[in-house]
Amino acid sequence: MKKSNVCPKCNGQNIYTNAGLMSRGERCTVAVSSWTQLFVETYVCLDCGFFEEYVMQKELRNAEKIEKIKSTWKKVDFTDK
Ligand SMILES: [Zn+2]
Repeated sequence: MKKSNVCPKCNGQNIYTNAGLMSRGERCTVAVSSWTQLFVETYVCLDCGFFEEYVMQKELRNAEKIEKIKSTWKKVDFTDK
């Protein structure tokens, strides 16, 4: 939805986002570990309720956090299905 502005589930165009709107204290986060979290932006379809979340671009450029993910989470192995 971030790229297409159309809901992939119902093709609705009634999509809203909080990207860039929230002040520091009220941003949504995803926990990487006990001490590390990533700020995310949410896109929601008001027709069917489907929503997507994206880690903010500036977080993807934060080398320290990216290293934390790589050392804490497991990489998706597409051959393991
Ligand atoms: Zn929808």
